Amino acid sequence: MSKSSKLSASNAKKAQALDALYREIPAFECVDGCTACCGPVPFSEIEAERAGLKRIEGSTDLICPFVKDNGCSIYAHRPFMCRLFGTASQVPQLHCPKGGTCENPMSERRAGALLNRYLKLNRR
Ligand code: SF4
Ligand code: SF4
Repeated sequence: MSKSSKLSASNAKKAQALDALYREIPAFECVDGCTACCGPVPFSEIEAERAGLKRIEGSTDLICPFVKDNGCSIYAHRPFMCRLFGTASQVPQLHCPKGGTCENPMSERRAGALLNRYLKLNRR
């Protein structure tokens, strides 16, 4: 059973919309085992549920709990913000510290538009 199929019924539709949003982010392959850009990262309710994360509010963690010695332990289910690194060449804060990039990086405007849709989706 996939993690997405374990989602509560009320979140299943939102999860589909979220996956569609993920697919609009240009494809980017991280360096194997790398966690160089990982820090405290926001998870939406669906992303937390899918990753099996219990606590998303009021956390004081300074590092994401999924950082492991061999890389991100939920790579296929990493949240939206993690997926932006290396895919928006005009946004310095989103540059991949390992110098990775993708074939068709997003403009700042495009990245901002996707972020707004992500925030809107998670407010509903
Ligand atoms: S985006 Fe770059 S720095 Fe971040 S995990 Fe992937 S390869 Fe590492
Ligand atoms: S979810 Fe994965 S990629 Fe994102 S910050 Fe955590 S360990 Fe890094």
